[in-house]
Amino acid sequence: MSKKIVVLGAGTGGTIISNNLRRHLPEEWEITVIDRDDKHIYQPGMLFVPFDIQKSSTLTRSRKKYILPGINFVIDEITRIDPEKREVTTKNHSFSYDFLVISTGCKIVPEENDGLMDAWGKNAFTFYSIEGADQLRQKLKEFDGGKLVLNIAELPFKCPVAPIEFVFLADWYFKKRGIRNKVEIELVTPLTGAFTKPKASAVFGESAREKNITITPKFELNEVNGKEKYIESIQGDKIPYDMLVIIPTTIGDEVISESGMDDGIGYVPTNINTLQALKHERVYVIGDATNVPTSKAGSVAHYEADVVVFNIMSEIHGTKPEEIFDGHSTCFIVYSKGTSSLIDFNYKIEPLPGKFPLPHMGPFSLLKETKANWYGKLGFEWLYWNVLLAGKHLGMPPTLVMAGKEVG
Ligand SMILES: Cc1cc2nc3c(=O)[nH]c(=O)nc-3n(C[C@H](O)[C@H](O)[C@H](O)COP(=O)(O)OP(=O)(O)OC[C@H]3O[C@@H](n4cnc5c(N)ncnc54)[C@H](O)[C@@H]3O)c2cc1C
Repeated sequence: MSKKIVVLGAGTGGTIISNNLRRHLPEEWEITVIDRDDKHIYQPGMLFVPFDIQKSSTLTRSRKKYILPGINFVIDEITRIDPEKREVTTKNHSFSYDFLVISTGCKIVPEENDGLMDAWGKNAFTFYSIEGADQLRQKLKEFDGGKLVLNIAELPFKCPVAPIEFVFLADWYFKKRGIRNKVEIELVTPLTGAFTKPKASAVFGESAREKNITITPKFELNEVNGKEKYIESIQGDKIPYDMLVIIPTTIGDEVISESGMDDGIGYVPTNINTLQALKHERVYVIGDATNVPTSKAGSVAHYEADVVVFNIMSEIHGTKPEEIFDGHSTCFIVYSKGTSSLIDFNYKIEPLPGKFPLPHMGPFSLLKETKANWYGKLGFEWLYWNVLLAGKHLGMPPTLVMAGKEVG
């Protein structure tokens, strides 16, 4: 048997799993990771750029630098996956594999939203790209009053806490500039509230009310009208705006759909517990590329990588992959420059109050706005570049731990 593992995408998930596999497997296993460029972006930082909390120039680093020696890093466009032949084709090469890990992520496609391109960069902006976040920083600086609407165009989208964080930070930002009384802030979402999970949604909804932020739920975007400055839902409801910040429609990478491996919107149908591709042997999926019903978040990709390394090792040793993954997700929710909340949940357990990661000690508090959580959010960037990407273990299981959580 040849011994080849190919990892598609060297973003958060792909880098973590390549390094983690390299740490666990002997040299005879060849590990190849492929990405279209050498620019690794720390995506959580894009939330801070519009508010001048972080410079965009600090967010991008060389992927190569974070990939361990002994891993073959290829810069090329992946054009086709053939799970029958166990072969991946790129623009310039082809690669056979014994195990494949798909971690091609997802991306925004503003062209998919009717009318959006006419308003794009004029009165409609996004912070879901470096260029967009930079442009928005400039526009927010010039904004001296009116209605700021944040709209989530469609589900699913990446980082479900980012929209509520954005409007909380907008509240902080306009207060700091002394013009909060001149700015109306509204979050318009297809969800039933501020977040995907009802209990956390109620907590964030209450915080939004205290900050005088309107949340308009169940709004399915039909059209952006940049000329008359409103968004319209499929049901015909119109919401006017002066500045629109939008998370456009999000899809998986084309290579997934063009290889006939997707669920209709570019995501790979994936076993929610083993993380195997449902229709293909020896193919695993992690991060934003999966269709598993949990957050599309870096923390999730990290937990999933641990599970997939375990399951690939199991298959190598002739045993069956185990149903380990429980949808575990951990996310800070920034409330202002200086305070943050934190949630920790899985497929079944909603975010609960309590302490994290050490029961009773924390230092972080769950579902609560604290300064310690803010420092946790800032420290997370260091952890990301130096520990998580390196595929090192945090000493915590990839699944949710109930110790420290207040039940009832
Ligand atoms: C504004 C914002 C804030 C966020 N905040 C947080 C946060 O606070 N906490 C958190 O946990 N998560 C956060 N996230 C989400 C997090 O960044 C992503 O969920 C995470 O990066 C997903 O990892 P991934 O490996 O699945 O995808 P990515 O990291 O996006 O990597 C996918 C890689 O695949 C490559 N690729 C795709 N298709 C091809 C192809 N055909 N050929 C070659 N290469 C290809 C891409 O170039 C890319 O490098 C945030 C995201 C955004 C946008």
